[in-house]
Amino acid sequence: MKDHKIAEGRIQTLKEGDANEEGKYVLYWMQQSQRTHWNHALEYAIARANELDCAVVVGFGLMDDYPEANARHYTFMLEGLKDVGEALSDRKCKFVLRFGHPAEVALELGKDARLIVCDRGYLRHQRAWRSQLADQAECPVIQVESDIVVPVEQASEKQEYAARTIRKKLMGQYQDYLEEPKGGNPQKDGRYLSVSGEPVRNIPKMVEQMSVDHSVPAVSELFKGGQSEAERVFENFLDNHFSDYDEHRNQPQTDDVSHMSKYLHFGHVAPAYLLHRVKEAKHHSKNRESFIEELLVRRELSINYCYYAKEDYDRFKGLPDWALETLEDHKSDERDPSYRLQTLEEAKTDDAYWNAAMMEMKHTGYMHNYMRMYWGKRIIAWAPTPSTAFKWALHLNNKYFLDGRDCNSFANVSWLFGQHDRGWTERPIFGKVRIMKQSGLKRKFKPDQYVEKVEELSGEKINGG
Ligand SMILES: Cc1cc2nc3c(=O)[nH]c(=O)nc-3n(C[C@H](O)[C@H](O)[C@H](O)COP(=O)(O)OP(=O)(O)OC[C@H]3O[C@@H](n4cnc5c(N)ncnc54)[C@H](O)[C@@H]3O)c2cc1C
Repeated sequence: MKDHKIAEGRIQTLKEGDANEEGKYVLYWMQQSQRTHWNHALEYAIARANELDCAVVVGFGLMDDYPEANARHYTFMLEGLKDVGEALSDRKCKFVLRFGHPAEVALELGKDARLIVCDRGYLRHQRAWRSQLADQAECPVIQVESDIVVPVEQASEKQEYAARTIRKKLMGQYQDYLEEPKGGNPQKDGRYLSVSGEPVRNIPKMVEQMSVDHSVPAVSELFKGGQSEAERVFENFLDNHFSDYDEHRNQPQTDDVSHMSKYLHFGHVAPAYLLHRVKEAKHHSKNRESFIEELLVRRELSINYCYYAKEDYDRFKGLPDWALETLEDHKSDERDPSYRLQTLEEAKTDDAYWNAAMMEMKHTGYMHNYMRMYWGKRIIAWAPTPSTAFKWALHLNNKYFLDGRDCNSFANVSWLFGQHDRGWTERPIFGKVRIMKQSGLKRKFKPDQYVEKVEELSGEKINGG
């Protein structure tokens, strides 16, 4: 760890070489870590710029056709980028947003850079963009991980089977990665460099003019994007809900959860910052342990999955062999009832609890974890085949959830079909894959109260038995 207090395990050189003598600034190409607070890549860029006696430019490439993104996602993201632009100006860094393919925007801005710093992402396209940058940049490229507590290769060198196999590895190391990164104050003011970009002002208008899917509207009145909002929501959780976190983990009629997944997805908040804050809440040990289990163990297991499963993380064939075999054995079992995708999407099944979950997802972009499990398991029961169920669950998940299209989306949808789980008693349709039924809900929590909660949130009556 140097002065910037960033653990070596977070830093990787993607392209070696000496800093470009002709360059005017250090470029931080921001893509995943869309924040200025607890952003290891930004702090690293500032520290390197100070060493090289130059300013920092932060560049962002905004594309219309980001995989599976729609107006809901773009609005939330732009709310965050507006925040970023303002906060960077306070830190004397120039923020440049340009329309275009992210890696190409980075390459264009990189032509005048002494070196390029980038953050890290694990999905197929995010990895491809960074490879393209490393291949084509004319100066060194350094990648700095800021959106995982324990960097993926340090946590484990292989694809893990389950939470139980990665837990010890993460718990043994995570304390080493909780230090706040500090790059110091930039010595050179970058704000007046003449590098052109688009202003982020009127977000609804900006989104309206983009050629994206507008059928899924923004949910800003419920959840607004941005680092300051993320931290406000988290402080509210710590003050008012954290003391019930462990007890209410499986109680979807309550709201004693952090709501951090959407902010984590867009990089509006650093997981290390959240752990650091939770560690300070000393008198809530049971709740703290439970939160660490979710944020550290479960979330980083998902990242381990996407990283090591490589091309298969979003494919049915990426499931474990035992699950594929047992689902295949039961592929021809009768589905009764059986629904079409449209019936599911319109929340018109005969199951009121399931319809409520679908409505919560559509109207708010969120769903409590327990209902996500039930929601997905019933899709397996009702879709014509397991591979169709996989496709439908992932499609709806990524279309409506603000936190969709994340490593957590792919790993958790795969979990529905046996990933990171074990075999259970054999049943129709599911085979040995874990099943969840409506009768089980009533034993665990108060599903009728959950339906009332969603009716209030959506302003619509929920039908079904
Ligand atoms: C079928 C299914 C689909 C899911 N799809 C997504 C998705 O698209 N995006 C997403 O981020 N999460 C997904 N999850 C995981 C989990 O439901 C959400 O992360 C959680 O409900 C988000 O709410 P929260 O931030 O209030 O969680 P909290 O309970 O406050 O948890 C804190 C953080 O821990 C992490 N976390 C919590 N539960 C899990 C879990 N089961 N697996 C991994 N990490 C977890 C999240 O980062 C979360 O923000 C899915 C789960 C299931 C069963």
